[in-house]
Amino acid sequence: MKQVTPMTNLSNKHTAATQRFADTEARLKALIEATSDVVYSLSPDWSEMRELDGRGFLKNAEVPTTGWRGDNIYPDDMDLVNSTIEECIREKKIFELEHRVLRADGTPGWTLSKAIPILDENGDIIEWFGIAKDISERKVAEDNLLKTKLQSDQQRRLYETITSSTPDLLYVFDLDYRFTYVNQALLNMWGKTWEDSIGKTLLENGYEPWHAEMHEKEIDEIKKTKLPIRGEVSFPHAVLGSRVYDYIFTPVFDENGDIEVIAGATRDVTDRKRWEENLQKLNEELANTNLELEATIEEVAKVNEELIKAHEKIEEGQIAFRLAVNAANFGTWFIHSITREFITDARLKELFGYYADESLTIEQALAQITEEYRPMVAAKLENAIYNNGDYDVTYPVIGLHDNRLRWLRAIGNLKADSSGDFSAFTGVVMDITNQYLANEEIKRAEENLRMAVDAAGLGTFQISADDRTFTASPKLKEFFGFYPYDVMPYEAATNQIHPEFRESVKANVELAFSEGKRFDMEYQINGYHDKKLRWVRAIGEVQYKQGKEYFTGVINEITEKKLDEIRKNDFIAMVSHELKTPLTSIKAYIQLMQRKFAEAENDTYSKMLDKADLQIRKMTAMINGFLDISRLESGKIHIKSETFDLALLLKEAEEESMATVTSHILIFNPIESVKVNADRNKIGQVIHNLISNAVKYSPKDTSITISCTADNEFAYVHVKDQGQGIKPEDAAHIFDRYYRVESDDTHNISGFGIGLYLCSEIINHHNGDISVKSYPGEGSDFVFSLPLYLQ
Ligand code: ADP
Repeated sequence: MKQVTPMTNLSNKHTAATQRFADTEARLKALIEATSDVVYSLSPDWSEMRELDGRGFLKNAEVPTTGWRGDNIYPDDMDLVNSTIEECIREKKIFELEHRVLRADGTPGWTLSKAIPILDENGDIIEWFGIAKDISERKVAEDNLLKTKLQSDQQRRLYETITSSTPDLLYVFDLDYRFTYVNQALLNMWGKTWEDSIGKTLLENGYEPWHAEMHEKEIDEIKKTKLPIRGEVSFPHAVLGSRVYDYIFTPVFDENGDIEVIAGATRDVTDRKRWEENLQKLNEELANTNLELEATIEEVAKVNEELIKAHEKIEEGQIAFRLAVNAANFGTWFIHSITREFITDARLKELFGYYADESLTIEQALAQITEEYRPMVAAKLENAIYNNGDYDVTYPVIGLHDNRLRWLRAIGNLKADSSGDFSAFTGVVMDITNQYLANEEIKRAEENLRMAVDAAGLGTFQISADDRTFTASPKLKEFFGFYPYDVMPYEAATNQIHPEFRESVKANVELAFSEGKRFDMEYQINGYHDKKLRWVRAIGEVQYKQGKEYFTGVINEITEKKLDEIRKNDFIAMVSHELKTPLTSIKAYIQLMQRKFAEAENDTYSKMLDKADLQIRKMTAMINGFLDISRLESGKIHIKSETFDLALLLKEAEEESMATVTSHILIFNPIESVKVNADRNKIGQVIHNLISNAVKYSPKDTSITISCTADNEFAYVHVKDQGQGIKPEDAAHIFDRYYRVESDDTHNISGFGIGLYLCSEIINHHNGDISVKSYPGEGSDFVFSLPLYLQ
């Protein structure tokens, strides 16, 4: 290697100065030898490179040269180097600069160059002596670091934009089931901070053991199958209480195709579920309201189905949206607020109908938006970039090459750059064509539903839970005797309700709000303007719309039906009443005759009269049944409660039926004393009815078993026969008024279908329950319960 001896040259010319350095020269030489740095010496004004030992990094200058700048300095940095040199010469200070160089092989590199001016005794520069370090590698590394940092900043902004614009819960698990990322929505739900939650397991984050275990099993499953898992679960939210959630876990793969982490997205579907249930219920109600409406109801059902389907479509779409966070199915963009530089990815270009390798400017993108929407989008974008940064718009785009119509939703987020010099506007664009069209479909379906309700002549209403604002459709106002354009507050409407019903209507509305109880009432209205008396049936339920509670429902006019019913009841009541008087005299005559024939010991006539008496008793029971029904309908049934022993009542029933029933084998199981507080006569009537039915609907000589059991709260009376049994579809209705089973077995058995109806009304008035377990051909087991009398 060539020896660098600037000090020796110097000493030849300036002996005095040399003398000062002489002692250190040897040491310095050794030092220079030891370093791998470039060493050089320059004339006082830097015009001449006297010597340069490039050490393989820079080109050597073995003889003095003036062309060294062109040889060694990277052209772009020439000005910087020159101005620094000038400044150092002027101020006689050490030159120290990081700059780019042309390396010995002609490629660019980086150096940290440092030169010291050597002064004579007058303080004039006689020479510069310098070293230059090769820092190319460090610079490249620094450069990469900066780029990576910029990129990750952009990624982070993008991610924040995506995750903050969704109420969904987004999170990432590592393979040890620990959370490595959770979005704000999830933190809110837990009521925890980021620091408290990250790196923790499900259990540590407060999940119930069964819940944590379920998800860990699912993660294991994903690790095994490499496939996503979707599920539904219900658990408590810190603020909102118990909710239903739909979730998807998706594996995220590294470049080798191994699972790196598991990304999850969870959506609150409570409202959707309620909405669906309510719609379903409302629909069922409509179906029950009126048979004549059946055609319309079918339509409503269809519309309803469409609504649910459309909603599902939206759900699907939104789930897709969440998955897209992983699959990067968003188009992303970035706008520099000063240069207006528009950086997009291939997916975004595709959404605007461009090919991935084509360039796309803001103006070109805007040009693909349909004319109707373009000015609005352009204005919002400008405003967002230069003013407040809020950007969330939905618009239709016709693709440039593919001519496809897509509905896009673009969301953007303005962030000042960390340097503070410019603002970066970062955003995502997603294809929401399916959701958009499905939404349109919902709107259409809702409009159809409205038309169906109109066509059915139903009035609709809504009362909000918070301030009790009452909204009514024109048809409903008409029912209350108001004109469609009249203002009709809640009070005004309730004032028109017949006083007999008014308070219970109001109370039931309140019950609907406080206990979620369904409202179903028939009541009479006195029209406000027209003074017309109308009967209506109102059905309503509390529903949730956009997080708010409403009591909504429909009202249907039933005046005709109701008047018919009242007329019919009045008629039955009158006829039954009129029949009772002659029947009582006939009974008296028969009893008189019975006594006479008994005295005359005429057995034949006595027996005939016994039979006549039995028939009269049956007829009396029947007529009493009708009277009971009409009393029930007009709300005049009276329960005269007393405390008595059910065992004794059953004993009486046993004695009575043993005397009258000869066709069947009656078995009364022994029972202990059971105290109840009830109307003794009416309960006797229920037992009697059940036994009569068992006799009526089972073949001769089969057995009928009557038994009574009790638990801590109730007494249960069973009447079990071995008769024809009841089909499940009939069993659902036999307690309805006037319901009779139509079949070959029953068509010659007389009855009016009121016995079981009365039984169930009586038992319900006692807060008990009546039901039947039965199967065709296997007999029936009727059971009713009564609350025990507890001292
Ligand atoms: P009715 O007996 O006058 O028809 P009910 O209200 O007492 O009226 O009974 C309603 C229907 O229930 C009957 O028509 C009959 O078809 C069915 N039913 C009642 N009890 C029994 C029974 N023990 N076995 C089979 N069917 C029965």
